[in-house]
Amino acid sequence: MMDMKKQRLTLRRRIGKNEERTYLEVPFSLEGSVERINISYRYERGGEETVVDIGLRSPERIVGWSGGARESFFVGSEKATPGYLAGRIADGEWAVLLGAYKIPEGGSDVFVEVELVRPHGRWMKGDLHMHSVHSDGSYTIEQAKDSCKARGLEFMALTDHNTSSQNCTVFAPDEQLLLIPGVEMTSYFGHANVLGASDALQDFRVTTSEQADEVLGEARERGGLVSLNHPFCPSCPWELGFDVPYDAIEVWNGPWRALNERALTWWQEQLSQGRRVIALGGSDTHRVDRFVKHGRPTASVWTETDTVQGVLAGIREGRVVLQFDPDETCMALTSGEYGIGDTIPRVAVEELGGVPLTIDICGAKGDRVALWSDRGIEAVWDIAVQAAAVEAGEWETEVAEAGEWTVHREIAAIVAFDASDDKSCMPMISTEAAAESDVALYKLEAENGQVRVQFQGSGDRLFYRLEARRAVEGLEQTVMTCMTNPIYIART
Ligand SMILES: [Zn+2]
Repeated sequence: MMDMKKQRLTLRRRIGKNEERTYLEVPFSLEGSVERINISYRYERGGEETVVDIGLRSPERIVGWSGGARESFFVGSEKATPGYLAGRIADGEWAVLLGAYKIPEGGSDVFVEVELVRPHGRWMKGDLHMHSVHSDGSYTIEQAKDSCKARGLEFMALTDHNTSSQNCTVFAPDEQLLLIPGVEMTSYFGHANVLGASDALQDFRVTTSEQADEVLGEARERGGLVSLNHPFCPSCPWELGFDVPYDAIEVWNGPWRALNERALTWWQEQLSQGRRVIALGGSDTHRVDRFVKHGRPTASVWTETDTVQGVLAGIREGRVVLQFDPDETCMALTSGEYGIGDTIPRVAVEELGGVPLTIDICGAKGDRVALWSDRGIEAVWDIAVQAAAVEAGEWETEVAEAGEWTVHREIAAIVAFDASDDKSCMPMISTEAAAESDVALYKLEAENGQVRVQFQGSGDRLFYRLEARRAVEGLEQTVMTCMTNPIYIART
């Protein structure tokens, strides 16, 4: 099948000896929306020394030149290879620039591959909560970027306390990361992230609910998305009430702990009352730490474009899945053409005689997946560890002996650390409890770590959402490995 997202052009240019030390253009035309151009090239080197340099020109200007240093590069709307400018990709006549620096007697054939990437939906991973030297963190922005990139993240929000100087730093476009402007309104009565506006807070000195109302309302008018952070944190809970303007709640702050469990319970209550609140997560990383790391949790956001506004639009739509780590258990929940964050219209429910759900799980290792609605847990699936994963476990043991930490040990350590908290994390629903209630309990084996499950949901529910948890051996506790935002079902 042809990939409509990508269009590939192969261009060839023969360079003669007589063209040595001149600049040549290999034109190509571009039409319709393109979000990224990938270019690679190779050339015949003959027996003699051959050097062909490369660059790119848009209809408007030269957008970059890498000489002979790179075999491939790309330009995108907000990302680009170092040496190239990111920006809107205009329709019209473009050209790959070739510099015929050293050409052999017989000439040289240059082959250029141009790949045009059209806007398309995809999940992107990032961290929506972290601090730098611009407040009480120890990372410079460059260090925080490097750390996020090493964790495989594609966007990050710098949310320093009550300041916007972190958003004033000017950077060349990055190859991997989108930088979402942010700030954490940090009051003595609660913290709230404002994402997507570079100077969202006029005055952070909030001590009353009325002031919070005003400041957060203004932040939203400036284009900011407001998330109430760690609202049930024992040391800095949200005490300014839930009547203030906000879009999301940070259900998952840092490693999974009791404070998150409380936020989750509150969120479930809100959803069950028919409210629509987006669940977000962020690592709240300040410095190098044993447990707290960039991308723990990771927010996976469905976006139509590889841009800051695309990610923010995905968040506003509630198209967010939270994961323990960037490469941990991930889940998707769909019903026909509807996905996470969508509302299934009544007419569709009636046509289909309910809500047929498809659940896709990957990377689960002994996780228990629960399907939640406004009625509580509806069904549970145990994802057995397959033989291959057990072998991997032996390998993990060696890694652990070498002084590194496996995710399983990491989880056990976090739980042990958190056990000092008065309210521990939720015990997993027991097999007996599941049998006593109406909850259907299924056992599955993941093939290549991937499972697809079908479930016939009912049209009289308000929403469906998923949670995956992993038990910690020897402890009566579980740690969240992945959770989704809901698919909503229209009432009327
Ligand atoms: Zn905070």
